[in-house]
Amino acid sequence: MKKIGFIGLGVMGKPMVMNLIKAGHQVTVFDQVRSLVDELKKEGAHPASSLLEAVGENEIVITMLPNSPHVKDVCLLSEQALIQYVEPGTIVIDMSSISPEVTKEINEAFGEKGVSYIDAPVSGGYVGAVAGSLSIMVGGEEQAFEQVKDVLACMGKRITYMGPSGAGQTTKLCNQIMVTGTTLTMSEALALGKKSGLDLYKLRDVLVSGGANCWHLEHKAPLMIEGNFEPSFKSALLLKDINLAIEKAKAEQLELPVLFQSKELYEQLINQEGGNIDYIAIIKQIYKEF
Ligand code: NAD
Repeated sequence: MKKIGFIGLGVMGKPMVMNLIKAGHQVTVFDQVRSLVDELKKEGAHPASSLLEAVGENEIVITMLPNSPHVKDVCLLSEQALIQYVEPGTIVIDMSSISPEVTKEINEAFGEKGVSYIDAPVSGGYVGAVAGSLSIMVGGEEQAFEQVKDVLACMGKRITYMGPSGAGQTTKLCNQIMVTGTTLTMSEALALGKKSGLDLYKLRDVLVSGGANCWHLEHKAPLMIEGNFEPSFKSALLLKDINLAIEKAKAEQLELPVLFQSKELYEQLINQEGGNIDYIAIIKQIYKEF
């Protein structure tokens, strides 16, 4: 049993905490939205009403927040930033998807205090978070990773050490380039099928059984066909990832045409529908009848 502080209880954080509790860990939870803390209290988590309480005497502190500024704020900048309270020897694990450069910056600051900082972003969506089957891509000190591998295994099925600080986040950006491209090409295939009068459920079944099959076709195409765009992974979060991937590609002097074009499409979607709509709603930008 480990004592764990967990900060950020949104779509992903909540089911991840539930799996840690199920595995027998003692988890103290914090979110700026108090009702999310209360919901997890009912499930057996210890409620915290501040970052300070979330750190407590926990040996591991996990963050699952929207973007780089939130993680930097919680770790380094805010009034109660973790850096002020964590004891040397603590391991901080950021499981959010954020910038590899900001990750390195936070890693350095914690390193000066004798605190290990690991980047461990995830893939697999809400479904994977609930099932505890996330793919987890890890960067940071390998020795610290070995110490928390068992804890990560409560939330994920495939846990891969990718290299030094930031390597997990860079891996996640590669993942998001594919998520974006796949979502767009799948939207185009379904749009052509619909306009041509095909039965979209049959079309999807045919594609699943051939060379076009992928996770998105299995899990997301049925929702797209139904027009169910309830937020599971918000468009604003995918646009954040697209921008981070573009920033990284530019830093590496790499032209990535599909990625670069996807930015405009997601900006249009968010302008029209707001950032909370699910990312698969991009199909409406391809063909309005969805
Ligand atoms: P979310 O918006 O549902 O949850 C984020 C939570 O962080 C919210 O509850 C918010 O109140 C809390 N928060 C923000 N700032 C805070 C602060 N300063 N202190 C305390 N709490 C704070 O987002 P999500 O969908 O759970 O995603 C979290 C991260 O995981 C993002 O980086 C996202 O890109 C990534 N991710 C999401 C999915 C998905 O399918 N939703 C999949 C893989 C990765």
